[in-house]
Amino acid sequence: MTSPGAPLADARVDVAGRSWGRVVVDVPVFEADEAARHSLTRFAEIVALAVTNDEAHRSLVALATTDSLTGLNNARAFHERLAEAVEDAGRYGHHLTLVVLDIDHFKQVNDVHGHPVGDQVLEQLARRLSRTARVGDFLGRIGGEEFAWLMPGTDLIAAVEAAERTRAAVRATPFPVVGTVTASFGACGLEPGIGRKELLERADAALYWAKRFGRDSVFPYTVQLQAVIEAVGSRETRARSARELLERVGTTMGGGHADHAARVGELSLTLAGRLMWSPGDQRRLQEAALLHDLAAVGVPGLPGGGAAGTATAWTGAHLSAGLAAASGVLDEEQSRWVRDRHRRWSERAEAGEVNGRPTGACIIAVADMWDTLVNGRDGDPGTSHDDAFLVVSSHAGGLLSPVVVPHLRDAVPA
Ligand code: GH3
Ligand code: MG
Ligand code: MG
Repeated sequence: MTSPGAPLADARVDVAGRSWGRVVVDVPVFEADEAARHSLTRFAEIVALAVTNDEAHRSLVALATTDSLTGLNNARAFHERLAEAVEDAGRYGHHLTLVVLDIDHFKQVNDVHGHPVGDQVLEQLARRLSRTARVGDFLGRIGGEEFAWLMPGTDLIAAVEAAERTRAAVRATPFPVVGTVTASFGACGLEPGIGRKELLERADAALYWAKRFGRDSVFPYTVQLQAVIEAVGSRETRARSARELLERVGTTMGGGHADHAARVGELSLTLAGRLMWSPGDQRRLQEAALLHDLAAVGVPGLPGGGAAGTATAWTGAHLSAGLAAASGVLDEEQSRWVRDRHRRWSERAEAGEVNGRPTGACIIAVADMWDTLVNGRDGDPGTSHDDAFLVVSSHAGGLLSPVVVPHLRDAVPA
């Protein structure tokens, strides 16, 4: 007698020429006679067949759902997952944000370096995307050089931050052979009343805006931003001046934005005067300052100047600069002032970009922080001048230019 539970007989299970495991009979009714051994071997063969089928099925599914070039999910798998994710998010009331991205001027990469090098760029980009995506995110290649990034449980602003980090990372590290490659991103959050079709269409619309307003940027889809974009207009219908554009946006959106922008414009002009800028440049700076924060109107939740250095502040500044530049009322330097106002002064100093003469971006940043503190924002009451001076001064040499801040006291009405 063997001890209870000890195996009486076993047979190997071989799958595709390798040992997969063993079938073990653990019941003592089995006497190890020939017939029993034969049955067991036969059973092991059936197990092997089942395992082989299952593995074949799985690799077929993987083949059918994986993009062979990048290893990401293919378009078909993406659309299936999108449908499931939209349903889940709707059922449980969870956030869901879809980001679509498209490589900028990719045709040129192929034209200059050839298709195989273009393929390598696609592979590399997929790898960089995979590195930044979080567990639970879903990445797919949904077109030639177009990718989708589905983020369950993530709201629009957080998704914009993630997309912005990825955009910056793609830009920052050159690709082998071709050098710098950039991509444009459109993001849309699921809202009640829209389905997967609208979600995809809106993310695509935002991607289109990113292309139209300068590329290498992240555009979120919001109804407000769409209204701002309509106010910016096309080549034929666009505004003739910064003031007119601000008025159009103000009329469309309502709220106190136009007043804030006008005050920041006025204060920027005064500060530039105290810094001995020419009257012409003072006026150009005022125009830029009027349009410094169009994104704040179009994308509620994107921080203004106060949160400099963050991904969403970058997005907000870049959005505003893109919209303002495309409106045709700002020249290249003016839009750069708008775009760079989110950057910390200390960062620019470390990068050796500071030469004593503050740029328009430095001035707008000071004026914006001052006005936000004194007049409040989004219904918050403002602080006293004394408190505002304390706060602004504490940022001199960090967030803000230490050359501009000391002029503030004489520039603001007592
Ligand atoms: P934009 O900034 O407006 O997106 O410009 P673009 O040149 O990237 O856009 P366009 O749609 O004109 O060109 C996309 C190019 O992508 C054209 C096509 O040759 C290339 N492409 C699409 N699929 C692949 C692929 O699998 N491999 C390679 N190497 N190129 C591809
Ligand atoms: Mg492209
Ligand atoms: Mg494309």
